[in-house]
Amino acid sequence: MPDAYLVPMSSPDLSQAERDAVQAVLNTPNLSIGPQVQAFEEFVAERIGVQHAVAVNSGTSGLHACVRALGIEDGDRVITTPFSFVASANILLYERAVPVFVDVDPETGNIDADLVAEAAAGLMKGGRAAERWLPRRGVPDARRLKALLPVDVFGQPADFDALTPTAQEHGLPILEDSCEALGAEYKGLPAGRLGDVGVFGFYPNKQITTGEGGLVVTDRGDVADMVRALRNQGRAPGDTWLEHTYLGYNYRLDEMSAALGLAQMRRFDELLGKRERVAEWYAEGLASLPQVETLPMAPTTTRVSWFVYVVRLAPSVDRAGVIRALDEQGIPARPYFAPIHLQKYFVDQFGYQPGDFPVTEDLGRRSLALPFSGVMTREQVDLVCERLAGVLAG
Ligand SMILES: *Cc1c(COP(=O)(O)O)cnc(C)c1O
Repeated sequence: MPDAYLVPMSSPDLSQAERDAVQAVLNTPNLSIGPQVQAFEEFVAERIGVQHAVAVNSGTSGLHACVRALGIEDGDRVITTPFSFVASANILLYERAVPVFVDVDPETGNIDADLVAEAAAGLMKGGRAAERWLPRRGVPDARRLKALLPVDVFGQPADFDALTPTAQEHGLPILEDSCEALGAEYKGLPAGRLGDVGVFGFYPNKQITTGEGGLVVTDRGDVADMVRALRNQGRAPGDTWLEHTYLGYNYRLDEMSAALGLAQMRRFDELLGKRERVAEWYAEGLASLPQVETLPMAPTTTRVSWFVYVVRLAPSVDRAGVIRALDEQGIPARPYFAPIHLQKYFVDQFGYQPGDFPVTEDLGRRSLALPFSGVMTREQVDLVCERLAGVLAG
């Protein structure tokens, strides 16, 4: 690996406004549980069009708090996708719930809603009809299907019009992992409010950053109250500092992070617009490369919120060789995602095997994330495209 890449893999997009906002907090004695968190929550709630927003210290902690708030427990089953960042399934394991994976749409990489409908019907029926969908081992008997957990992959919302009837038929809440999709729209509706509760993540490579951070959005007051309690050491509304109604966590976002997030949200249209422009440059630069397919857009995606720039290589291309050659030329590139069901501890606990989810595995083998951020210049995008073209020409 060269000492420094010519182009970073990702980069936050920060202005003087963010620096001033963080500095202003540092000039107060109030570094946690204060007005910045509340202002950040109100700003995002307004923007997304939800009644409640609860800021937390990571996307993962937000998702975990939602699992608790939805009452998902030991042995409960939740239908979700193996083509995602590992956190979206880990949060079920934290509560010893069972992720029931179904495969994804080969175009978007989002969970296949027809398979979700079949799996839900099978799991509700039980017996042999359920077994077909369950992992080979590590599954307690006679537990219930409790929820659906779709992920809006790469900034494109899952197909909620196809998922919602399944949820309604079986009375299941939908937890939307929108950690990659702040600002995306599905048929004109903002990602994050497409299910019962949605979660955003603000790690530095996301559309906006707070350093580490996340945010839960919902119209359900009971879920918002519970997430607020859980993030704050289990203190229910009315509890004093040393009263803890629930087993809680410290999942609070601090005031510096919230101030950063609020300043980023005030620039949100600018930030998304810059990412869109970079994605357009890539699409132009890659159009002449027959071995490279850019991300197909679902007709339901009325706005994609570019998170990463992931392309798919033709099956004949040696991806590891491409990554190595680009690396030697100062260009970072990464596989994205590694299928969750084939991570060691998922294999150990549930007995998953290669071949279980062929579409996920195919996308996992062929996907390549290229350097991406809103601060990339046209010259940098062109450089990546030229080097990739050179490597592919061999
Ligand atoms: C980024 C991300 C998360 C949350 O990540 P944190 O680093 O905990 O904020 C969760 N799910 C998906 C799909 C993500 O991409």
